[in-house]
Amino acid sequence: MPKVYNWQLGREMDYRFEGGKQERQFAAVFNINRCIACQTCTMACKSTWTFSPGQELMWWNNVETKPYGGYPQHWDTKILQLQDEADPGGQSWNAGAVDPKRAPYGQFDGKTIFETADGVQKVATGYIPTEDEWKTPNIYEDTATRFPAGGVSLPEHSGWFFYLQRICNHCTYPACVAACPRNAAYKREEDGIVLIDQNRCRGYRKCVEACPYKKSMYRPSTRTSEKCIGCYPRVEGTDPLTNGLPMETRCMTACIGKIRLQGLVKVGDGGEWLEDRQNPLYYLVHVEKVALPLYPQFGTQPNVYYIPPRWVPRDYLHQMFGPGVDAAIERYSNPSRELLAVLQLFRATQEIVFTYKIEQGPKTGDLNIGGKTRELFNDTVIGFDSQGKEIVRVTVDEPLIERPDRYAMNTI
Ligand code: SF4
Ligand code: SF4
Ligand code: SF4
Repeated sequence: MPKVYNWQLGREMDYRFEGGKQERQFAAVFNINRCIACQTCTMACKSTWTFSPGQELMWWNNVETKPYGGYPQHWDTKILQLQDEADPGGQSWNAGAVDPKRAPYGQFDGKTIFETADGVQKVATGYIPTEDEWKTPNIYEDTATRFPAGGVSLPEHSGWFFYLQRICNHCTYPACVAACPRNAAYKREEDGIVLIDQNRCRGYRKCVEACPYKKSMYRPSTRTSEKCIGCYPRVEGTDPLTNGLPMETRCMTACIGKIRLQGLVKVGDGGEWLEDRQNPLYYLVHVEKVALPLYPQFGTQPNVYYIPPRWVPRDYLHQMFGPGVDAAIERYSNPSRELLAVLQLFRATQEIVFTYKIEQGPKTGDLNIGGKTRELFNDTVIGFDSQGKEIVRVTVDEPLIERPDRYAMNTI
């Protein structure tokens, strides 16, 4: 089996195919701290792609309440348990060996889902959820928990829950693609979006079993498997609204909480993100390291990244987002001048922002956070499209616009 490099694990691993055939990679950052669980994203996807017979239980985008919620129910605890049983006591990180570029989170010393499988009967450890587990996407919504019992200190809360927004991660090393015996699941070379060819699929559900995030789903009416398609017509720029320029997906652009930013990043021969300092996603993931992969230890190198929630006990976050959690929360809680500006790009335009620049503005005040004082500036962040044309301009301070007197009574 070929060896590929997984930078999220800081090491090589086995994977069925050679990596790195893409020109660009579909990627996104979700800021968990801002999500209000309005489910607008969920309905935007549902009403666009999965409203037909046989798709009733399909939610390509879902937002679940952690720690108890899950769609399908218990998806993450089940796969974590299978991995622990296959590698008892071994699923740990060596966060000490740091190479900031090749291994920013250290090295994962445990086994990926590909490495705990026998490679003959299964290429990846997994399971097929029961029909009942798919029926309750909102189970335990807004249900809090209270652990650890020993007490915590701010910003962590002892009673807590948070919302986890989930779509297909369009993984660099997708388990669904590796597991498909008919090569019906595939990864597009132009943008890394993972699709299932409906003409080739015979509904064996190997992708459903193998995807650790459970984002490949079986459709009984067609007897094929389907999944999030990354809204590829929009990403290709075929939506008339943007005159042929790449556009963010339905679930991203509909987001009420402005928690989502999606784009296309440059990737190299080994599937790694190439340095692209002024791409906002590259900046958030590789420069500020404020956004982290979900369960990187599974080994698929997912391309949706999360700014972790500040109030959740760290042990829970470490097992979910890996060793980068403490630094990411510190940077988000006390952001640099540049980070504060880049965060304004979230949901400022429907077109994909390929690069940004910042124009410095005047000082507007001082802020004391945790005993540290920092200056605030009203900088302007400017986003550019794939052609280098300006598409958006946002200031850190929200402008105050006074309604003219003649509209005061809303009668005209
Ligand atoms: S999240 Fe699952 S369905 Fe999506 S690409 Fe990764 S392995 Fe495949
Ligand atoms: S990217 Fe498109 S297809 Fe995928 S979950 Fe979002 S709206 Fe649905
Ligand atoms: S639309 Fe945005 S804020 Fe609302 S649930 Fe979805 S991700 Fe959260």
